[in-house]
Amino acid sequence: MNASEPRIIILDDSTINKIAAGEVVERPASVVKELVENSIDAGATMVQVEVEEGGKRLIRVTDDGCGMNEQDAALCLQRHATSKIRSAEDIFAIKSLGFRGEALPSVASVSLLTLITREREAEHGTLVRVEYGEIADFHSVGSPPGTQVEVDGLFQRTPARLKFLRSTATEIGHIFEVVTRFALGQYQVGFRLVHNGQETIHLPASADLLHTLALIYGPENAEHFLPVEHEVGAIQVLGFVSAPTLTRANRGQQSFFVNGRWVRSRGLSAALNQAYQGLLPPDRAPLACLHLHLDPALYDPNVHPTKMEVRFTREWEVLNIVKDAVSATIRQAVGRMAIPVPELSRSARPTPAAGPPRPPGGPALFHRELERKAGVPLGPVAGAPLPAPEALDKEALGQATVVGQFQGTYIICTSAAGILIMDQHTAHERIIYERLQRLRTEEEPEMRQGLVVPLSINLTGRERLLMSECLEEINRLGFTVERFGRDGFLLRAVPAFLADADSERILTDALAELAADKRATSVKRRSEVLTISVTCHAAVRKGKALSVPEMQAIVDDLAATREPAVCPHGRPTLVFISPRRLAHLFKRPE
Ligand code: ADP
Ligand code: MG
Repeated sequence: MNASEPRIIILDDSTINKIAAGEVVERPASVVKELVENSIDAGATMVQVEVEEGGKRLIRVTDDGCGMNEQDAALCLQRHATSKIRSAEDIFAIKSLGFRGEALPSVASVSLLTLITREREAEHGTLVRVEYGEIADFHSVGSPPGTQVEVDGLFQRTPARLKFLRSTATEIGHIFEVVTRFALGQYQVGFRLVHNGQETIHLPASADLLHTLALIYGPENAEHFLPVEHEVGAIQVLGFVSAPTLTRANRGQQSFFVNGRWVRSRGLSAALNQAYQGLLPPDRAPLACLHLHLDPALYDPNVHPTKMEVRFTREWEVLNIVKDAVSATIRQAVGRMAIPVPELSRSARPTPAAGPPRPPGGPALFHRELERKAGVPLGPVAGAPLPAPEALDKEALGQATVVGQFQGTYIICTSAAGILIMDQHTAHERIIYERLQRLRTEEEPEMRQGLVVPLSINLTGRERLLMSECLEEINRLGFTVERFGRDGFLLRAVPAFLADADSERILTDALAELAADKRATSVKRRSEVLTISVTCHAAVRKGKALSVPEMQAIVDDLAATREPAVCPHGRPTLVFISPRRLAHLFKRPE
């Protein structure tokens, strides 16, 4: 009845001991990763992932791969059962994604797992059901060729791990990322992700990586991708990197593959970055999808239980080749198309992770600590004790008159109470932050300004997902973003006080920060990350020359805020020097 000889063996102990062991099932996305790896190793041309409630309720992966015969279907759920290696030496010539023979039994031990599989030539398939590690059912069934693994009730019997599952939005975000990675790594395989009955990703198999990139990153963004094609000896670098005209606020949209396996690698990131040296401001990162093809003997995938890290035997050489490959591409493109080099002087961006705004201390708004933090040279004069901390009340701030600007960065004012030095960026941030907060909490009538021509926003797949999740929160900040077509977005209006800003960039930067913020799981935290990011990008930059009326407007607006002393990242907005402090500095008798 079996159409074939069994393929799976149980590894011997000495091989097992050489394999990086550890937990592979951490969350629904890790289950998806392991199951899809198996489908790809089985030679599938189409993999479908269906999940419910971010995978917390159900994960079902279906493929059209080689399937298993009855014997293998029983064996594959045993620990250290694999068809992919026979001995430890095979790891150094590994072509498959899996090799440890641990994924299926690990998943089966913490869930209700149903496997249905059939080899193409077999008359019928096999069903195996495992309930939290115990085989509960095993019989023949009719089924299409290929394999389907269904995982239900993940971690229901392991409360310690159940506790670490996050919101549906967070979990589906991780799954989305996993499936997207596979699609970029194995673009010759088609992928479909269905969440709660809705198709979230549909990426048909393609012979052309750029085609898949266009589907994932959006066709407009894909126009900025430059091909990388480079070969040195037995090492080949293929893929695409973005021209300096297309960047993001962090490295979240870069992926690296080694022989089709997605890897996390600081070294590769750094090599990519080096290739852009001098072409991008320090706070911008290119988009990239790079495939390295090299002899499996030149790296070790057996460093980490989830196999997401590899160790190159000649790391320095490999990284140099990658850097040269990307450099060659960019240099050629810059020469050919005269790509505008973005301004290099943008200030470094504070991260939103810097924490909530620090409450200023009572009526004594600007105490000594803040002054010190601001780095203004007010050290004690020749051992003389510093005068007591001085307070500036809001009224005095409201009466401040602008004298001028220093270094395009500081606004100098005087008032009857003393001299004020304001940091134009942090002061403006405070103003915008409170405005956005008032909009958000509906304390203030809306101040939206419609765009004459609605702007279509170019987003990548992950950003589109985040945008759909946060649409309401973004629109509450005074933007009007609408869905457009199947997965497009149109920007129709912006907060009136941001009318002159680059709104598309402000929004994509905010989404990038949101994607990078591991704690942004609650609606509240998400709103806060969005608000701070929009604030930071909308605030006037350091180094920007301002007219006296513009500066006066900032001073007056700051005086009207609730917490004028600190920006939303907790940095000071101004320092204050009283006449008494001046007298002290000049050693004048008081
Ligand atoms: P590994 O992938 O490291 O070998 P797994 O526990 O993930 O270990 O899988 C065990 C074995 O089960 C695989 O080696 C393979 O032979 C078989 N298998 C698992 N999933 C599939 C699938 N979707 N199609 C065909 N065979 C599969
Ligand atoms: Mg596997």
